[in-house]
Amino acid sequence: MASGDGLLVRVRPRFGRLTRDQLLALCEAAEAYGSGLIELTSRANLQLRGVSEAAWPGLMEALVEHGLVAADPAAERHPQLLLAPDWRVGDATHEVARLLEARINELPALPAKWGLAIDAGDAPLLSKASADLRIELAASGDLPAQASGALLVRADGRSLGTPVDSPSAAVELLIRLAHWFVASGGRDAGRMRRHEAPLPPWAPASTPPARAGKPMALGSHPTGRVLGLPFGRASAATLRAAVGSEAVSAVRVTPWRRLLIEGVPTGETFQEQTPPGLLDDECDPRLAMQACPGAPHCEQASVATLGLARALAERQLIAGSMHLSGCAKGCACRQPTDLCLTGRDGRYDLIIGDRADGAPAATGLSESDVIEYLEKNRDALRL
Ligand code: SF4
Repeated sequence: MASGDGLLVRVRPRFGRLTRDQLLALCEAAEAYGSGLIELTSRANLQLRGVSEAAWPGLMEALVEHGLVAADPAAERHPQLLLAPDWRVGDATHEVARLLEARINELPALPAKWGLAIDAGDAPLLSKASADLRIELAASGDLPAQASGALLVRADGRSLGTPVDSPSAAVELLIRLAHWFVASGGRDAGRMRRHEAPLPPWAPASTPPARAGKPMALGSHPTGRVLGLPFGRASAATLRAAVGSEAVSAVRVTPWRRLLIEGVPTGETFQEQTPPGLLDDECDPRLAMQACPGAPHCEQASVATLGLARALAERQLIAGSMHLSGCAKGCACRQPTDLCLTGRDGRYDLIIGDRADGAPAATGLSESDVIEYLEKNRDALRL
């Protein structure tokens, strides 16, 4: 799709996992055809930015060759399957994903933003991620003992779901509900959450999901290591370094700006293994800040964003939500944030409680002016 800095190309890794070779191929493609930056979205997709119209065909060829996008464009129009990233081969999440993938052509044509979450581990991890239908583990307390471990299918915006007795029944019900969404006029609402029609009698919402778990913590993981991406992005060079060891077998994407690097060798400390440019500290504010690539990565940008973002993070001048935007288009965040810095004519405008195109409280600031302003107003802004 077109963006302020050229075409934005989104890759949806199958089951949220890329082999090491696929990741290396993606890094190469990002450098050869795009800006060299790779973003991880809140739906666990990977994005290349800054792709020109002329470079696009070559990029597609490279991505198809490495199995990173489907050769048939129609396959890319299916709703995205978002899997709990800690799935294991043969577990309920993997089994449901396999079955649903085999029947994916049975889904009706759905609005472009539709997504499906498969989150059938002991504790749902994707409750806050965007998905129109979810398959989750049912809360055992509300079910007969013999039904413990049952799955449920839950429509977004509803706190209760419909229990089913097997992965295949979950897939069957999900497909039926997708057809019901279309037949009951859901397209007008666009997303399941906004579709207020009562659920059909054959899908009674009676059962809550199991208690939600926490996103994967940064650091050691039973299958490898979890590393954070500052501002949700990293350069191709940084990601290449993260999978530099041949012991790395694959990388899993998450909706939380974290990557699970599978197969990192043991015996070294986590700190020693954290490549520069990635995060290992849960408290690092760069995990939550929004920042577009800015100059020099985007031609529309009149200021750099990432250097200032880093400087503010180091000085702990961040509280609440914060957005740094190279220009007033605000590609990184369309919502108002507590504080937004927007580039204009090579200087920064400072906007409080609004979007990148909102009315500024201060204008024409240099980087040091911004720091001074925030230090001076620390209390008022609750920094
Ligand atoms: S908001 Fe950032 S990425 Fe978007 S056009 Fe402006 S400078 Fe470029």
